[in-house]
Amino acid sequence: MKSTVYFGSPRQTRLEANETLPAKLDLIMEKLQLRDRVKGELVALKMHTGNNIGYSTIHPVFVRRVVSAIREGGGKPFIVDVDWDVEGSESRGYTPETVGCPIYPLAGPADRYFYPHKRPYKSIDTWYLGGLIQDATFLVNFSHAKGHPSCSYGGGFKNLALGCMIGKTRSAMHDVCHDDRYWFSELCPDPAVREQIKAVCPHAAIVDDRKNPGELHLHIEQCNQCGRCLQVAPPGSLKIDPVNFYSFQEACAISTSITLSTFEPGKATHICLATQMTPVCDCFGFTSMPILPDAGIFGSDDLVALDQAVLDVTGRLKLIEENISTSLEVHTREGHPLRWLHGPYKDPYKVVEYGAALGLGSRDYDLVDVLPVEQITPAPMGYIKAQTN
Ligand code: SF4
Repeated sequence: MKSTVYFGSPRQTRLEANETLPAKLDLIMEKLQLRDRVKGELVALKMHTGNNIGYSTIHPVFVRRVVSAIREGGGKPFIVDVDWDVEGSESRGYTPETVGCPIYPLAGPADRYFYPHKRPYKSIDTWYLGGLIQDATFLVNFSHAKGHPSCSYGGGFKNLALGCMIGKTRSAMHDVCHDDRYWFSELCPDPAVREQIKAVCPHAAIVDDRKNPGELHLHIEQCNQCGRCLQVAPPGSLKIDPVNFYSFQEACAISTSITLSTFEPGKATHICLATQMTPVCDCFGFTSMPILPDAGIFGSDDLVALDQAVLDVTGRLKLIEENISTSLEVHTREGHPLRWLHGPYKDPYKVVEYGAALGLGSRDYDLVDVLPVEQITPAPMGYIKAQTN
């Protein structure tokens, strides 16, 4: 069955506030009937407050509008994020005064308030969900779309998958990429060849395994699957295999399903702001130049449909190659532009594929523009006096 994704385009006909993205966020919240749904609810607003001197996380102007809508509807909002990002978030503009509600670490200041969920997946047996997430009765998942070094895309799924679990589980989720064996040292007994394998990688993605001398370790984040190492490694000694790359996205889908399972049906909604899209995620603590043009703002009760729509819309955009750091290389030009940057096995669509398989939503959707420019009377040329919204 088709889901509905509401969409606010970045396009404007006039230089007026009511055609800008915060105003379109208001229209999306009306379509989602957010105010009508939160009366008496304890509402966790999950967003990423960034780190260090990053400035591309969701601007407080947007956050405050969501908080205000929740309050107007009679809900009790609070923002949650992981402990090390909440700490210092005031330096990036997030304070109770600016956003209109408290900002809490999702598992308390020591990351020790959580609920265990047993769900075996590769090396993970039990997942630890932040206590404040599970204690909430309604969830607003407010994400920022951008690139990601492990899976090429971070959006709605990623905001919940990593952002609702405690640090121990987040680390375990990154580690599942190593559960399927990719290095077979018995087929490469010569230490000099191991040195050549490491040296040929321009991204320093292959290193000595700290825990197992003589073994090699692949940094999934750095690897763009260029294949140079495979030209040097003896046959069969090294695999650059999709399974190692896909595992992270499957773990993200499972993690998200655990989080969403703690909310009653209809008690979660998802909004994604696709502006200032940088090559890597906001955890890096800085903001580099955007590598895609702004795509707008999206909202849906169906998380699968939401991320699918964001990927489809951003997938039609042109990569801004002059803004790409020289430490990255484009070696494929197939599929989504984020895949060009991070390599073919970091297919951004995998997470929605896994999410749909888990029954979290539909990849089939209608995209409803909340203020199509075609329906606005064309503006005369020239400036129009800006109005307050
Ligand atoms: S595939 Fe390329 S980036 Fe990945 S480890 Fe090998 S040489 Fe490095």
